[in-house]
Amino acid sequence: MRILVVEDDLNLNRQLTETLKEAGYVVDQAFDGEEGHFLGDTEPYDAIILDIGLPEMDGITALEKWRSAGRTTPVLILTARDRWSDKVAGIDAGADDYVAKPFHVEEVLARIRALIRRAAGHASSEITCGPVRLDTKSSKAMVNGKALKLTSHEYRLLSYLMHHMGEVVSRTELVEHLYDQDFDRDSNTIEVFIGRLRKKMGVDLIETVRGLGYRIQAPTNAN
Ligand code: CA
Repeated sequence: MRILVVEDDLNLNRQLTETLKEAGYVVDQAFDGEEGHFLGDTEPYDAIILDIGLPEMDGITALEKWRSAGRTTPVLILTARDRWSDKVAGIDAGADDYVAKPFHVEEVLARIRALIRRAAGHASSEITCGPVRLDTKSSKAMVNGKALKLTSHEYRLLSYLMHHMGEVVSRTELVEHLYDQDFDRDSNTIEVFIGRLRKKMGVDLIETVRGLGYRIQAPTNAN
């Protein structure tokens, strides 16, 4: 899952970015509204954390521009504590949720997890696919009740597929959602990671759809 953090406060931006990375997300950073708007307009993020008070272009304007261009990426806005009007303006502009400053980063993490889940149509923090269970809260995966030892990259890959269970996900889409913008992207590496993931899972749930990509889905009962 790839997140964009748009925040001009350097410390806060760094703190959010580090926390998100520790939680297994890939993170891009922007420090003003124009850069943030551009990235959100051109890169496929799974969620965006957007400060309202930003230089160059304010957060509300950036958000309005994304929404009027038809971008539906979940957006969590950061508002000043006493500015209730920011929350109203933000939600009216198309924000999906907000957190008022000062906040605990854990709250931001929880809200981001919920936004990503809901955008993918899952209400619970656990996603199940046959014998595979993904706990988005602890970033852990289990097969038949046994915890999988996954690298953060493998977890991200499994998590993306599980969030889009039943859908064919192309290699390009995986590359775009698993790496940050500075990464030297090579979609062949995806195949290697899929191979490792299949081996660790020990169950054959990830299907290769020739020429299109990959799909995870629960086995259907034959009888
Ligand atoms: Ca600010």
